[in-house]
Amino acid sequence: MAKLRNRSFTSDGAATHGKSKGVVMAKQEIVLTCADCTRLACKGRDEAKYPKFCLTEQVNDGQLEQVIQIYKKNENRTGEISVQSACLEGETYGQLTRVQETIEFIKRMGYQYVGIASCVGLMAETRQFVKILRAVGIKSYTVGCKVGAVDKCEVGVPNEKKLNGGTGHESMCNPIMQAKVLEEQGTDFNIVIGLCVGHDTMFLKYSHAPTTVMIVKDRVLGHNPVMALYTAQSMYSRFKKELGL
Ligand code: SF4
Repeated sequence: MAKLRNRSFTSDGAATHGKSKGVVMAKQEIVLTCADCTRLACKGRDEAKYPKFCLTEQVNDGQLEQVIQIYKKNENRTGEISVQSACLEGETYGQLTRVQETIEFIKRMGYQYVGIASCVGLMAETRQFVKILRAVGIKSYTVGCKVGAVDKCEVGVPNEKKLNGGTGHESMCNPIMQAKVLEEQGTDFNIVIGLCVGHDTMFLKYSHAPTTVMIVKDRVLGHNPVMALYTAQSMYSRFKKELGL
């Protein structure tokens, strides 16, 4: 390990030294990363198959050891989360829906009070989920994204950018308030349901409790964003040249 520390490889095979952030790249230069790797040899630590630009080969041994210590110290139950999620994966791979997996994880971690940060547009789905949680004896508390009912203009959103075209009050999504409400409730695990891109970013930043995302919003694809990638050849066919598909 660590033979090629701090080196980045470009698509023409040339090595560039230093952290990639500091590398001044020509416009068309592409730094190869795990996204360009078809071997994925790190899964079984098959060192003979690592590509030239392998990120495992570039890992700093000292930093890797520090990271392992974070799991081992188990502060905020980080190590337990790591072990329980790996065991759940190992025991039930490909057998559970995300809803079932989330419930099983809550049980295994022994969480007592689950917070749900839901988009108001997905409250029907959240209601269904809460019904299931109640049926299996898990206590929860849901807070919708519009909590506080503060007008979007209050935080600087231009009136004309509202969905209603600026014709009156339109409440902002308030993920920080959602996080504060759940913190006051003392939830020990939080779940995001359908928050928009960016709103979820803020909730994840301000959530006091460990959080999982159960539903990501995609208003076009039934909240299944990966479909855009599975169908990229047709979805983005009009941009084929620009995207290099
Ligand atoms: S760490 Fe190395 S082997 Fe693993 S995906 Fe990245 S480049 Fe491929």
